[in-house]
Amino acid sequence: MRSKDFGVIPGLSKKYPKETSLELFRRMCAIRYFEQGVIESVQAKYIDYLVYLSSGQEAIAAAMSVALQGFMIFAQHRCHGTYLAFGGTPAKLRDELLGMDTGTSRGRAGSNCVQCHENEVAMFGHHGLIGENVPLGVGAALGSNKPVVCFFGDGAAEEDYVFAAMGFAVTHRLPVIFVCEDNNLSILTKVDIRRSWSITHVARALGMPAVDITDDPWTILETAGQFKNTLPAFINIYTCRANWHAGVGVDGPPEWDRLSMVREELEKMGLSSQSEKIEKDIIAEMEKLWDKKHLQKL
Ligand SMILES: [Mg+2]
Repeated sequence: MRSKDFGVIPGLSKKYPKETSLELFRRMCAIRYFEQGVIESVQAKYIDYLVYLSSGQEAIAAAMSVALQGFMIFAQHRCHGTYLAFGGTPAKLRDELLGMDTGTSRGRAGSNCVQCHENEVAMFGHHGLIGENVPLGVGAALGSNKPVVCFFGDGAAEEDYVFAAMGFAVTHRLPVIFVCEDNNLSILTKVDIRRSWSITHVARALGMPAVDITDDPWTILETAGQFKNTLPAFINIYTCRANWHAGVGVDGPPEWDRLSMVREELEKMGLSSQSEKIEKDIIAEMEKLWDKKHLQKL
């Protein structure tokens, strides 16, 4: 069932304006190349603690940030991509990772707890208990009646308080979209070893619309667009992390690399000159952001 094509809606890339497709690619590139700077900074020991990377899973944050405006964001521990895609400031995230006062939490929260309550980005970070952001997000929707997006992983989906919060959202018809970033791993253990049931079936049984798709950004955009008016709803998205659960190492080639697939799709659409410029400009921006001379002065 899990594959790079599972649930992909054919022909969607041609349905959206080319500007939307290029913006999805731009947001994905921003995450990938920001984190290239993180990886090099860890290797050079400018950052000397465990980081949680979004690389490989960029399409989810990129597409959700295009689909959902005005939502409060409750992010999981793997949250750099969420912050960057929804409009966070790369320099503030860099400074947070470097432990500086100019970081998103004055350098005191680090990689897995990125908070942001400015520039219309209302993002509440993870605090350490796996999946705790789900009941917190549901409570925020209850208290404010504002729409909420909760991101969590396939490991967090197994926590009882996540189920309870999803059921509570159904009972009270709360405007929450639950998004499982299903990279098939809880640290190192695959889903089919951990459980014989599907979180999507559980969500349906609780009484909300729920679907399994993969991380094709156009399919995410389309699905989120359909669901956001019938909340609560649940989307399980198959994706692949590029790096270890924590840290910058790699286990080997990921099952698929969605950024490469989107780049190829844009080429087929005749947008290669625009996409090449976007990628080149982002690489230059992120190299400047993580410039070693600048880091040495910090
Ligand atoms: Mg996982």
